Amino acid sequence: MKQLTIILALLLFANINAQTDQDVLKTIYTQSLTNGKSYQWLDHLSNKIGGRLSGSENAEKAVQYTKSELEKLGLDKVWLQPVMVPKWVRGEKEVAHFITNSTTINVNICALGGSIATPKNGLTAKVIEVQNFEELSVLGEEKIKGKIVFYNRPMQADLIQTFMAYGGCVNQRYAGAMEAIKYGAVGVIVRSMNLRQDDLPHTGSMSYGDLPNNQHIPSAAISTNDADKLSEALKKDSNLKFYFKQNCQQFDDVLSYNVIGEITGTEFPNQYMIVGGHLDSWDLGDGSHDDGAGVVQSMDVLRLLKESGIKPKHSIRVVLFMNEENGLRGGKKYAEEAKANKETHVFALESDAGGFTPRGFSFDCSDANFEKVLSWKSLFKPYLIHYFEKGGSGADVGPLKTTSNVLAGLRPDSQRYFDHHHAANDTFDAVNKRELELGAATMTSLIYLFDKYGVDNIPEVKEFKN
Ligand SMILES: [Zn+2]
Repeated sequence: MKQLTIILALLLFANINAQTDQDVLKTIYTQSLTNGKSYQWLDHLSNKIGGRLSGSENAEKAVQYTKSELEKLGLDKVWLQPVMVPKWVRGEKEVAHFITNSTTINVNICALGGSIATPKNGLTAKVIEVQNFEELSVLGEEKIKGKIVFYNRPMQADLIQTFMAYGGCVNQRYAGAMEAIKYGAVGVIVRSMNLRQDDLPHTGSMSYGDLPNNQHIPSAAISTNDADKLSEALKKDSNLKFYFKQNCQQFDDVLSYNVIGEITGTEFPNQYMIVGGHLDSWDLGDGSHDDGAGVVQSMDVLRLLKESGIKPKHSIRVVLFMNEENGLRGGKKYAEEAKANKETHVFALESDAGGFTPRGFSFDCSDANFEKVLSWKSLFKPYLIHYFEKGGSGADVGPLKTTSNVLAGLRPDSQRYFDHHHAANDTFDAVNKRELELGAATMTSLIYLFDKYGVDNIPEVKEFKN
């Protein structure tokens, strides 16, 4: 029986070598769509574990679960890489309302990650609405002191790349408190980073920079519907009072892990190609799109390579990063260890833009390597994968950047991503099985091609060949 298995494996291997790239991609997509594991893994991560905020019990469960699932795949190595991560806890559900003309109007808010709590009984103050930091500086301390700053710049609807629209307003969330503190504000309310009108507040990380603890002010996000309501009310009554209460808390850093699995390369075992997503998520939903999808797709890349009979020349690793959302400690740690161990990372791919229909990739690399990628474009045509552009990759793989390697990010359709991003509706039911599986197959195909044809202009590669 064992001999038969070996013979079958050899036949499959010989067969793969004789196959064209078209055939191999067809095998990969067929495997993912008919025998994929990504959706099943996501079901467990989302529905059996749930939101996985760094330092939480759920994050630890996700580490153990993904490690044990990777161990079942027959990889050459699976291990945990320790990393210290911040621990922030939301606490009780936040409450907020504003009072105008003696009418109380309840609004939906959520604390921003990293924010301090309000005083125990909440905070009440007048509100000053602004669109950006320039407006703040024009208003100055005189108009801002003692008030809550309400940042209400919406995501730009006419940008087709919704990540551009996000990039265009996320500074309100991340640095809004830091800026408002300069002028004596007592709190910050930020319009949710959401292109849709709804009642869901969207959380996300914020920072106080280097400001001492005694200067910190509580910060929260408000739903898009309620942001509009508040803005309308302020036009009629600029003296209205806003109340909010949150009791979130920052604890000391705790020990957590990146989860790593490896297929050791047959020709260049000391050259690494990695694929990953981040294991942590925000706590309001179950983190299915951000980034459960990227996690399970990356896990499936290694499984699909094996199932398709591909024996990679380079060492291929799946890396499930911890703490992308509020610290990027996992991404930084992985790059630090890679450097310390003198591991050459020639290619890194991240999936962290949701589990929607894949459109292609963006690449952070030299022109020579980008030309090579473009030569593969026609291979992806049958799968409606057409987007191959230069651009960013992913936050977790960013620290691995060198002058000669290739970093890439999967680019799914992004029109609905920000409906769910960091909100209570980032849940399993919002992920479509086929879309998720197409993403996993698309990622596997790119890894297969980079492994087969290599990365150009890597000094270490030349040394190796000489
Ligand atoms: Zn993410």
